[in-house]
Amino acid sequence: MNYLSTRKNGTNNEEKVSFKEAVINGLTKNSGLYFPENIPSLPTSFFDNIENIEDHQIAFEVLKPFVKDSLNDEQLKQIIAETLNFPIPVVKVENNIFSLELYHGATQAFKDVGARFMSRCLSHFYSKNDREDSNSNQNVTILVATSGDTGSAVANGFFDVKGIDVKILFPKGKVSPYQEFQMTTLGKNIQAIEVEGTFDDCQKLVKEAFNDTELREKVTLSSANSINVARLLPQMLYYFLAYKQLKKQDKLEDKKLVVSVPSGNLGNISAGLIAKKIGLPVERFIAAHNANDTFYNYLQTGKYQQKSSVLTFSNAMDVGNPSNFERIEYLYKGNLEATKKDISAFTIDDNSTIKEIADCYEKNDYLLDPHGAVGKLALHNSLKENEIGLFLETAHPQKFSEIIQKAIPSYESEKVDLANAKKLSIDNDYDKLVEIILR
Ligand SMILES: *Cc1c(COP(=O)(O)O)cnc(C)c1O
Repeated sequence: MNYLSTRKNGTNNEEKVSFKEAVINGLTKNSGLYFPENIPSLPTSFFDNIENIEDHQIAFEVLKPFVKDSLNDEQLKQIIAETLNFPIPVVKVENNIFSLELYHGATQAFKDVGARFMSRCLSHFYSKNDREDSNSNQNVTILVATSGDTGSAVANGFFDVKGIDVKILFPKGKVSPYQEFQMTTLGKNIQAIEVEGTFDDCQKLVKEAFNDTELREKVTLSSANSINVARLLPQMLYYFLAYKQLKKQDKLEDKKLVVSVPSGNLGNISAGLIAKKIGLPVERFIAAHNANDTFYNYLQTGKYQQKSSVLTFSNAMDVGNPSNFERIEYLYKGNLEATKKDISAFTIDDNSTIKEIADCYEKNDYLLDPHGAVGKLALHNSLKENEIGLFLETAHPQKFSEIIQKAIPSYESEKVDLANAKKLSIDNDYDKLVEIILR
């Protein structure tokens, strides 16, 4: 399977690379995103019989065509076993509405799956035998800036992975105690660096390092960016595993399945759309947004107009210019009618989010996080009689306890213990960062 660029502009518009190259490069030469050249379909017999297939086998069959030129069967099986190492249950919330809980992994958000998968792919691609470059007995350094969630997923995903060192830059005092705990208490190959500055400052330091040819001659740097295909593709698995559970529990009957995805950068829903293209019987998707309504507006008007992001209670979805829009546009060849047939979008404001968390807790005894609440409400508002609804619970409520407390004042969060935290502190100073990287 080759990977092509979502963009057709520039001199390199014919770029065609393997999975391995796409993972290592991250972005295409003409600054687009990689997209599979073709999407192979699985036979209907696979779906008719899916409840009898083991989870890791489902994952293997789904992913194999996308990676087989770069990973052999044994390698892929091992990566899957290490990626899907926590439960992903479907839970009934109310009549005809189910929650897919994606938060039982190490950092309690769905990004764990993509981060684990990508780290292990890189570990194979950079392993001593596979390396073509001269620094082959040297570790690869993954350098990331984070405002919170990505850092903890990447830290955990790469923890103790052979041949890889991770340096995470986060803005001092601007991540939640819970997120700081997740980044600073692992140790081993994970180093957290607190920067006296903002997230943008962290991001600037990282960019400077990637542009520093002198530094890059001394160390092999790589990023763990969220638009990497190795983070996108394994997200398809949620949808297959959810369908398996609903079918096994006889919940589908003659009804059509509608899936609501709390969306920001549109990566998760893009993976769902690829799953549908493979043949997964999903009738339609809902892109559930907070006040950041760029994609919603696109579906209404046919015009894509990026905006500045606005802060909301579901902050992992505060994205004004979603990168994966390009992938959706590419998948539907820019055909608005075809896109709207498969996806509808809703925006849910902060007040409704809080009210939904409170109502759902009172009526169903089910605790939603702010992102899941946006997904559930969008689903609830649009579900038809002959449909069965599934929303993705993308994070554990306790990650957002300050917001849950606005809805449910009696909610008590777990205390985090930062006694064993280890971090380096630096000023917003590039030379200090280089010193740490070369240490
Ligand atoms: C990243 C994230 C999202 C948004 O997912 P996208 O793939 O960016 O659309 C939603 N909820 C949580 C908790 C997240 O961390």
